[in-house]
Amino acid sequence: MKRVLITGAAGFLGSHLCDRMIKEGYHVIGMDNLLTGSLKNIEHLFPLKEFEFYYHDITKYIHIPSELDYILHFASPASPIDYLKMPIQTLKVGALGTHNVLGVAKSKQARILVASTSEVYGDPLVHPQYEEYWGNVNPIGPRGVYDEAKRFLEAITMAYHTFHKVDTRIVRIFNTYGPRMRVEDGRVLPAFFSQAIRGEGLTVFGDGGQTRSFCYVDDLVEGIYRLLLSDYTQPVNVGNPDEITIGAFAEEVIALVGNPKARVIYKPLPIDDPKIRQPDITKARAILGWEPKVPRAEGLKRTFEYFKEEVKVPQNA
Ligand code: UDP
Repeated sequence: MKRVLITGAAGFLGSHLCDRMIKEGYHVIGMDNLLTGSLKNIEHLFPLKEFEFYYHDITKYIHIPSELDYILHFASPASPIDYLKMPIQTLKVGALGTHNVLGVAKSKQARILVASTSEVYGDPLVHPQYEEYWGNVNPIGPRGVYDEAKRFLEAITMAYHTFHKVDTRIVRIFNTYGPRMRVEDGRVLPAFFSQAIRGEGLTVFGDGGQTRSFCYVDDLVEGIYRLLLSDYTQPVNVGNPDEITIGAFAEEVIALVGNPKARVIYKPLPIDDPKIRQPDITKARAILGWEPKVPRAEGLKRTFEYFKEEVKVPQNA
């Protein structure tokens, strides 16, 4: 049985990757310090002998007693609100944490796939964003702690690849959604669903004209799995190119949830909020034979089922 270490195992993406790797017949070692992750996301795995959980902060030395074949490095706060609240931890996990995890990959001779992000493109000046674009990032803005940590993650991963011959993969993940996103995570989809379900105003930032392209989590996991098993060591965008304005997205959520009290309200646009974002997935199509399969209407329906259970509605609502 092949063994895989998954950092950030109790998070949104990490927990879905745990499920997938177990389904594919791997032994999974999940690691998380539960800063933004939740044991609820992986508690169904605890009875399985194919699953072990280590409560650990990867910015500290990582000790894995057994052999490893693969590492999926997904530990990091990923919501703008989270990394605004935890700027130092965000920088540390992307830099010191990634260094430690690469050290584990080197000593175990394990293949490692690291989670990068569309944020490496910053507020992009080319559209859609292809992998050769170097980005437009403000290093000292509020998002800089995440963007630069992930840019460092890519740099140190390539350095370990070229200098130490570590077998590396880099995925650049665009906006992803689905069950197990945290209700209070602050990202647009949990915010809009919880507000619509509670019958509150949906907080559209700015004039709602900024765009994002949302990928359903199962599609993303499929792309990551294919990249892990591929031979390609340059960064690959994985995301859904179906782009929508945030204003139109709010209307879609309102229509789906069907709460007559839900409506749009406007709030100031956060500093450095990217105005446009859409992945160019030419590489993922050609190299991985991958493209997203779940349309937004279907993905949102599945995600609504989850949020219906998770969102607490106040008595007087
Ligand atoms: N956004 C919004 N209302 C919210 C949360 C986010 O209008 O309550 C907007 C935000 O300004 C951004 C987009 O939705 O333009 C996506 O934000 P998110 O925090 O999900 O992630 P990002 O793609 O910016 O990293």
